Amino acid sequence: MKYAIVIPDGCADEPQESLGGKTPLETARIPNMNAIAGAGVVGRANHVPASLPPGSDVANLSLLGYDPLSHFTGRAPLEAAAQGIELGPNDCAIRCNLVTIENQVMRDFTAGHVSTEEAAELLAALQQEIGGEKLRFVPGVSYRNLLIYRGANVSPPWTRDTRTTPPHDLTDKLVLDDYPRGPGSDWLNQLMSDSVGVFADHPVNTARRERGELPATNIWLWGHGRTPDVKPFADVYGKQGAMITAVDLLRGLAALIGWKRIDVPGATGYLDTDYAAKGRYAIEAIKDTDLICVHVEATDEASHEGRVDAKIAALEAIDEQIVGPLHTALKSHGDYRILVTPDHPTPLRTKTHSHGFVPFALAGKGISPDRATGYHEPAAAKSELAFAEGWKLMRHFIG
Ligand SMILES: [Zn+2]
Repeated sequence: MKYAIVIPDGCADEPQESLGGKTPLETARIPNMNAIAGAGVVGRANHVPASLPPGSDVANLSLLGYDPLSHFTGRAPLEAAAQGIELGPNDCAIRCNLVTIENQVMRDFTAGHVSTEEAAELLAALQQEIGGEKLRFVPGVSYRNLLIYRGANVSPPWTRDTRTTPPHDLTDKLVLDDYPRGPGSDWLNQLMSDSVGVFADHPVNTARRERGELPATNIWLWGHGRTPDVKPFADVYGKQGAMITAVDLLRGLAALIGWKRIDVPGATGYLDTDYAAKGRYAIEAIKDTDLICVHVEATDEASHEGRVDAKIAALEAIDEQIVGPLHTALKSHGDYRILVTPDHPTPLRTKTHSHGFVPFALAGKGISPDRATGYHEPAAAKSELAFAEGWKLMRHFIG
């Protein structure tokens, strides 16, 4: 049996006044997702336990079949795993965003989608000025970078009680009350403050200002943690998996659970991603593995920007260029199951992730159809198939 999962990140949403009281999923032209709902079932799952922050880290860990309450340690260690960075017992990974803060307001948590090359230069400057043997600034993709603490014999000063705020929760808000707090926070705050001087007159920022682009004014440190202890997916679920994603966090999750990572040229993690290429690579990958998972970040990014039209356009592109072709290809392999589900809601109203159920559509071998004909939140809300502990959906999916 072949398995496919498509994750339109953060696509679950609320009814929109601008859409006549419908949600983006209800409004978008998504015949292929609706066909899965029609042939199979629509249900709902909650991937973020109330005690954990609603992020793609916690939610995707759950979506991939691991209880976040037992396994989640923080976002940054997942991204470190994505980069093949091994963490020792006293090491800690911390997410290091490049952001634009103006007059203490978080103008942009992506520093104007600073390029990967520019980010690497800025990180090199940080390493030289404020890094050291214990603190390594590691460039990632665009604004998503890491700070690695190498403790050797000394435990990191940060614990589960150290509170940090994801910068995407602060868009257009004052940041004064959201600097790190708790154990070791003084050090994080010092580094964040020092970055301002390092970046102020950096040539990368001078050039960005001249081009009318937002400069990277600060680093924002958050999501710290040590490496989580998870068993390989093949040991738990008996299937080999592969992941297609442009996002380090998902790549890291895949690495931790022993999945193959497939890089797709043109996959950007943004609205301009090459949807068709992702579809083609998924179809190719499923030949050699039991389970292919395609994650698309564009829907989430559209919500972060509060752009309902962009969110609908991303959903339609995912439907036409990934879900449709992949479903067709699966049929040629014989028995299969296909699952479409986001990880968490990202309401356009709040422009950030939230707790709560997300709708899923599931079809294939052994799935008796329910009455749902469309894939959207209202159908999921009516469904009898609900997973309050979302990580249990994977067992149901694998069968
Ligand atoms: Zn997400």
